[in-house]
Amino acid sequence: MLGDGYFEVPMNSHDAIVIGAGQSGLAAAHALAAQGLRPLVLEAGDEPVGSWPLYYDSLTLFSPLGTAHFPA
Ligand SMILES: Cc1cc2nc3c(=O)[nH]c(=O)nc-3n(C[C@H](O)[C@H](O)[C@H](O)COP(=O)(O)OP(=O)(O)OC[C@H]3O[C@@H](n4cnc5c(N)ncnc54)[C@H](O)[C@@H]3O)c2cc1C
Repeated sequence: MLGDGYFEVPMNSHDAIVIGAGQSGLAAAHALAAQGLRPLVLEAGDEPVGSWPLYYDSLTLFSPLGTAHFPA
């Protein structure tokens, strides 16, 4: 770790970089890993949860599973 939240990552340790660990980023990382690639997921927030927690104070999920399929 270099300090102030910065990390040194060896350039040959990953095949792809995914920016953001929301639904799209996690699904993309899953698809890359399924192809045998080694993705590095970079998330600006403290957790890999995307924007969901910012919408409402008490909501976790209100879509039926069949309409919000998550591939990972
Ligand atoms: C009011 C509202 C209600 C919704 N209701 C539903 C619902 O009921 N059901 C449903 O399925 N969908 C719903 N959606 C849509 C759903 O929330 C989004 O489609 C989904 O969150 C998009 O996922 P995403 O991964 O593309 O983006 P996000 O969830 O926004 O994730 C992006 C991630 O990238 C990170 N990031 C951004 N910039 C950088 C950077 N430069 N470096 C590193 N990390 C970065 C962010 O911190 C974030 O974690 C709703 C959306 C809104 C606005």
